[in-house]
Amino acid sequence: MKPVARYRGDFQWEGVAVEPYSSEEPQLRDVGRQVLAGADDGLRCELRYFEVQPGGHTRLERHRHAHAVVVLRGSGRALVGDEVWDLRPYDVVRVAPSTWHQLRADAAHPLGFLCMVDCERDRGTGPTPADLDRLRADPQRAAFIRL
Ligand code: MN
Repeated sequence: MKPVARYRGDFQWEGVAVEPYSSEEPQLRDVGRQVLAGADDGLRCELRYFEVQPGGHTRLERHRHAHAVVVLRGSGRALVGDEVWDLRPYDVVRVAPSTWHQLRADAAHPLGFLCMVDCERDRGTGPTPADLDRLRADPQRAAFIRL
């Protein structure tokens, strides 16, 4: 890895491939993933850039590992735990272990964000029907969630 991956504009970096967010979940094709730094650089965490296309969303999930997110582009909203938050560039989102989370881009704008995560991590799980019942008990959360 070169020490500097030059920024090419439009939220892409030289030598960094844009990968699908999840090959197992084709409904999430609206999300691109770029690994900017990670284990190959001697880190025990990965720094990724994700971009959710307008109207798209990430997986509703929780896992034992945590995330630190910094919004770089566009606007959207995030469910973190029990609350839905508006997101703007440079907002920082802290997702604690075992916390439900989902990010959505606004209809008219992409949502691009850096996400730091442990290299060694559990895959995480989606909601059971009982989890969904509890999450949807709140109208704001019910309106936000996408499966
Ligand atoms: Mn996650």
